[in-house]
Amino acid sequence: MTATVSGEALAARLAFGPPDRELLRQILSTQQPDEIETIRRAAEQTLLENHGDAVRLRGLIEFSNRCSSDCRYCGIRRSNRQLDRYTLTLGEIVEAASWCAQRGYGSIVLQAGERRDAKFTRLVSAAVRAIKAATESPTLPRGVGITLCVGEQSADTYAEWFAAGAHRYLLRMETSSPELFAALHPPSQTWSSRLQCLKSLKTLGYRVGTGVMIGLPGQSLDDLVDDLIFFRDIGADMIGMGPYIAHEHAVLPGGAAIPDGATRLQLALRMIAAARLLLPRINIAATTALQTLAPDGREQGLRFGANVIMPQATPNRVRRLYTLYDGKPCLDDSAKQYAACLETRISSVGRRIISNDWGDPAKH
Ligand code: SF4
Repeated sequence: MTATVSGEALAARLAFGPPDRELLRQILSTQQPDEIETIRRAAEQTLLENHGDAVRLRGLIEFSNRCSSDCRYCGIRRSNRQLDRYTLTLGEIVEAASWCAQRGYGSIVLQAGERRDAKFTRLVSAAVRAIKAATESPTLPRGVGITLCVGEQSADTYAEWFAAGAHRYLLRMETSSPELFAALHPPSQTWSSRLQCLKSLKTLGYRVGTGVMIGLPGQSLDDLVDDLIFFRDIGADMIGMGPYIAHEHAVLPGGAAIPDGATRLQLALRMIAAARLLLPRINIAATTALQTLAPDGREQGLRFGANVIMPQATPNRVRRLYTLYDGKPCLDDSAKQYAACLETRISSVGRRIISNDWGDPAKH
């Protein structure tokens, strides 16, 4: 690839036909500033042609940090005993969701650690139904759009929540490499089980989001190229991915070094651009992890092709207890302060917030 390759040519080579592995590799690896700018412009142009300048919001409600899983990189994993655990009440969850709806956020994400006990699955069903009822209005006749992000579950549980009214599900693969997945998780958590869950969700009719961590110990550029092709093959409707950021209580096996923060940020931005060029019509989130590595990380994510932001709507009193990784920004801002700061940030890159809209792309 050279900088003389036009953005249109770059987009056309990736959006049509079989994936061009070599081109994807070059997008992720080039160090030439003019090539990086060509890539960024091509991704931004592809975004504007397919989605316009609107940024879609999903109010993020982290309703419980209890988790029965033990992902080795995660700060709230089961075996981290140095953490107070919480679960919001049904009333608190509905209150947070209603606040999002009043603010014009047309969609919310209900996120928590992974649990499969009946008390938890019933709470999720009840929350989905109650939120739908509480947020119906002339501007949102079907209530807010609800994305669930509560991990691996049985197909029956997924079906129950879909029937209750959730229509999107975010389940990050974390890596498409079975070997890397095995290094990140205990033997009881398997790559094939995660993949089966993604397939069940698609079959049931959910809009499915997935994603990976970028800059993991032992991860190669080819692994990242595989991740991009995985997104295409699984039929992802949304992607949320960000740089790997270690948690102080992570227990990943030592040995392999990770790239420095600036390198991981650059890689994450290139992954967003490559995903946008490969899959023009899907939603791509500018994740909070980007902002952890640079104060304007999420704005950069928007400029490289992202079109979704998940503003914090978790009650302030528990927000510090939901730390999957270290350095999470805006922990002390109130949801109102956070929303105001977000509007300024989004307009600073020439984009605008779309309000009272579920923000789903057309089926592809
Ligand atoms: S990543 Fe999710 S499932 Fe894994 S330990 Fe953390 S909260 Fe639990």
